[in-house]
Amino acid sequence: MTNTGRFVVIHEVECERCGGEGVQQHSLWTEYFQIQEEKKDQDDLVAWFRERGFSEPPEQMHVCWPCEGAGVLRQNVDLRDALQAIGAFREDDSEDMLEEYDRRKLWSRGADQ
Ligand SMILES: [Zn+2]
Repeated sequence: MTNTGRFVVIHEVECERCGGEGVQQHSLWTEYFQIQEEKKDQDDLVAWFRERGFSEPPEQMHVCWPCEGAGVLRQNVDLRDALQAIGAFREDDSEDMLEEYDRRKLWSRGADQ
């Protein structure tokens, strides 16, 4: 085991923007469906989007930009920070473990304490 470098783990959370789907509905499509729902009527789809600057209706779904389609956000985290975050590691523990290790080394050399 080398003492240089550091160990990292990956912290992963579900992307809130797409809810883990990795894709999102175009905001104008969302608006369009809301308006249609309220009016209980159908506007001309192509005309509706044309009024908003689109020669043709854009793709309804597109890749979610924060997660780039993965559905999760990932970040490298120092292993020590990760263990602390899940409550599996305290700074005190490592102090105790090192002290214990030093004691054992001394004992193994035949020292009394
Ligand atoms: Zn996303």
